[in-house]
Order: sequence, then C-alpha cells, then structure tokens
Amino acid sequence: ADTISEPEQVIKKYLDKMDSPPGEDCIICMEKLSTASGYGDITQSKTIQPEMVGKLKNCGHAFHTLCLLAMYNNGNKDGSLQCPSCKTIYGEKTGTQPNGKMEVYFMPHSLPGHPDCRTIHIMYTILPGIQGPEHPNPGKQYTARGFPRHGFLPDNSKGRKVLDLLHLAWKRRLVFTVGISNTTGEADTVIWNEIHHKTEMGSNTSGHGFPDPNYLDNVLAELAAQGVTEDCLAN
Ligand code: NAD
Ligand code: ZN
Ligand code: ZN
Repeated sequence: ADTISEPEQVIKKYLDKMDSPPGEDCIICMEKLSTASGYGDITQSKTIQPEMVGKLKNCGHAFHTLCLLAMYNNGNKDGSLQCPSCKTIYGEKTGTQPNGKMEVYFMPHSLPGHPDCRTIHIMYTILPGIQGPEHPNPGKQYTARGFPRHGFLPDNSKGRKVLDLLHLAWKRRLVFTVGISNTTGEADTVIWNEIHHKTEMGSNTSGHGFPDPNYLDNVLAELAAQGVTEDCLAN
C-alpha cells in the first residue's frame, strides 16, 4: 500500500473534503477551483489528485489540496499551516530563529509614559553560526550584528503578560530570523522577525523607544498574528 507522507498527513488533518468545488479561484495557483491545480506538474502526490479541493476546518477557505501541499513543502514543515487567505493558523507555528539565549532582568527605573512602574529588561544573545536547512542559504555562515540586543517593557500586568508571550515566542523560534536586514541591506544575517521590541529605554532616537501608548496592544496583536496568544499560556 502507498504510505501517506508526513506533509500529506498534516494537510489532511486541517482540511475538510469538498464534493463540489465552489465557483471561485484558488488564490495559491490562481486557477479555478473547478479545474486542476496549477502545481500538478511540480508537486507529486500518490494520494492527492490535482482536481481535489478542500476547505480549511476553522476559517472555511477553499484551495486545491495539492496547492496547500506545495505551500507547506515550501515552508519549514513544522506541522503547522497558515491560511494564505485570512492568516488563520492551524497547529503551532514555529520560526527559524537561530540558537541563542533570552535573559530577563528587572530594573528599578520607570519608562517614559509609565511613571508608576518599574521596567522589564530582556536581553537576547545570538552568536554567528552556520545556516540550517530551514534558512535561506543552508550551509552558509550567518552573521549576528549588534548582540546582545535589548528589549524593554513596563513592569505592570500587561507588560508581564507580553513578557510571558515573548518567552513562548522565543521557545517557538519566532523572535528573530535569518535573512536580509532592511536597515543595513546585509544578507545572511540575524534580523528581528515580525514582533516589534522597544530597544531604547530612556531615549527615542530610533523610533523604537518610549513613550508609545499603543505599544503593548500593538505587540500583543503581532504576537497573535504568529499564533502566540494568552490561550497558549493556560496549559
Ligand atoms: P531590519 O532592519 O531588517 O528590520 C526588521 C524589523 O526590526 C522591522 O520590523 C523594523 O521595524 C525593526 N527595527 C528596525 N530597527 C529597529 C530598532 N532599532 N529597534 C527595534 N526594532 C527595529 O532588522 P535588523 O537588521 O535586525 O535591524 C534592526 C536594528 O538593529 C537596526 O536599526 C539597528 O539599530 C540594530 N542593529 C545594530 C547593529 C550593530 O552593530 N549595533 C547591527 C545591525 C542592526
Ligand atoms: Zn490551486
Ligand atoms: Zn482562511
């Protein structure tokens, strides 16, 4: 019997079969869902035919099953899937952050805009290394500039919640990634991922400092967009 590959199992776990395809286009391959997947020539599967269409269980968006398989195989294959239409995350999304350490200190100073509480200081240390298969250029060296890097949060209840979620994001390798720095243009280097940090404590020369009354809510939204929410902390 044909064995179902691990990526095929992942896709099938998050999909409901559809007997008749809806009259829309597949936004992965841009072909009609009523015709075959545009990736049939490059993505082979013994159990998924190019005509098969499925809809994601929670958000209900429909795609060629083979197109979702092609998308999954193009990513870091961590068992999670993100709807390309609405960004709903299925499973637990992880990133490609290199090895390093995250340390936390408490400072007896207050941040601009948060006069009534002390400060949480997060220190990230990442050293240069060799890129793994999950990175843009496997086997090639990556640089790590400006480490240790620092992040600051107000030590109040919302700030501590963000800290807990950042710990989880770190564990899931979502805080940094390896790629091209927007700031310096350097490739194969460690860069911040999609979760903004306040890297200045008393000053605000970079625009990544305090005061910023919306910061905690904004970073909570950025964490949620990576699948890191309060629900994950409960267990
Ligand atoms: P990047 O420039 O590719 O940007 C990635 C993300 O980081 C973006 O969302 C951006 O808004 C955010 N970001 C940019 N500057 C930031 C800052 N000062 N503080 C917090 N977030 C910032 O990412 P990158 O290459 O990691 O550069 C981010 C910052 O890191 C640079 O602006 C610079 O301050 C610092 N850096 C320092 C050195 C050093 O040698 N001291 C070297 C490289 C980068
Ligand atoms: Zn398609
Ligand atoms: Zn969706």
